[in-house]
Amino acid sequence: MSASNITLVTGTDLYADTDLSSLSWLGQQWAAWYIYIGNPVIATGLMSFLLHEIVYFGRSIPWIIIDSMPYFRRWKLQPTKVPTAQEQWECTKAVLFSHFTIELPAIWLFHPTAEKLGMSTYHVPFPSWKVMAPQIFFFFCFEDLFHYLSHQALHTGVLYKYIHKIHHKYSAPFGLAAEYAHPAEVFILGAGTILGPLIYCYFMRDLHILTVYIWIVLRLFQAIDSHSGYDFPWSLHHIVPFWSGAEHHDFHHMAFTNNFSTSFRWWDRIFGTDKKYREYRARCKAARAQAKTPEQWVAFEKQINEEAERDGLAAEAEVERSAGKGFKSD
Ligand SMILES: [Zn+2]
Ligand SMILES: [Zn+2]
Repeated sequence: MSASNITLVTGTDLYADTDLSSLSWLGQQWAAWYIYIGNPVIATGLMSFLLHEIVYFGRSIPWIIIDSMPYFRRWKLQPTKVPTAQEQWECTKAVLFSHFTIELPAIWLFHPTAEKLGMSTYHVPFPSWKVMAPQIFFFFCFEDLFHYLSHQALHTGVLYKYIHKIHHKYSAPFGLAAEYAHPAEVFILGAGTILGPLIYCYFMRDLHILTVYIWIVLRLFQAIDSHSGYDFPWSLHHIVPFWSGAEHHDFHHMAFTNNFSTSFRWWDRIFGTDKKYREYRARCKAARAQAKTPEQWVAFEKQINEEAERDGLAAEAEVERSAGKGFKSD
C-alpha cells in the first residue's frame, strides 16, 4: 500500500492481507487501535501525543513525591534548594501550554513526514529487538551530538538572552522542568530528537514507529531524570560512567557553564567543556575527605555550591552583556 492512499482506506482494510491471530499480544493491540480509530494519520498522531503526555507527567510524578519527602534530601545535589509546590505548579502550566501549542502540531506533522520517508506505522508484525537496538543507539548518539552543539550555540549572546535564559530560570532543576523552555528552544532541541529517526528513515528506508516510540520514551526518561536534582548510589552513571545523568546536568544549571550534552559525557570531555565541573567534583571529594562530621560536610558543600553558583551568575551576566551590545533592548 502506498503512503498516498492511506487516508482513503479504513482501519480494517489496513490488515486485509495480515493474519492478525498470528501476532504477539502487543501486535494485536496495535492493530486493534488502528482498526478502532479507522484513520492511520489520526491514530498515529493521537497515540504519539498521548504517549508523550503520559510518559512526561508519569515520569515527573515520582520526582514530585521524592521532593516532598525529607528522607531523600541526602541524595539531593543542591540540598538547600527544594522546589516548592507553587514552583512545580507554575512549571506544569507552562509545560502544558508548550505541549499543546508547539509539540502537538510538531508531533502531528512528524507522522506524514516520516511516512513519506518510508517509516512503517500501522504495520505489524514489529521488527525484532536486534533491528531496533542499533537504531535506538544511533538516535541516542545523533541527539547527544546535536544537543551538544546547539546547546552551546544557545549559550551565546542573543540566543541566550532571548531564548535559552527561560530554561535556566531554575538553578536547581526538578523533573518537570525538563521541557520548561522558550518555544524556539523546544523546537530547536526537539529537532535533535526527531531528526535522527527522519534521517535514518530517509537513507535506510527501514524503520518502524514503535522503535521511534521506544527511543522517545527513553529520551524523556533521560531528560526528566537529568533534571531531577538527585544522584542516588544506584543512578545509571555509577554503572555506566559515560552516562551523563542528573549529576552532570544539575551542575550545568547551578554553575551555568560546562556540561552541554544530554546523554553521554564524551563530547564535554573531548572538548574540555567539563573542566570546571571536574574541578568542582574534585573540590567536593577533597572536602568530603576533610570533613570530620556530617554537619561539617554539609557546610562545606553549601559553600562550594554557592561559589559555583556565584561564578555562574557572573558568566551569565557576561553572556547577556554581549547580547546587549548590538541591541537597545533594555
Ligand atoms: Zn544551558
Ligand atoms: Zn536543563
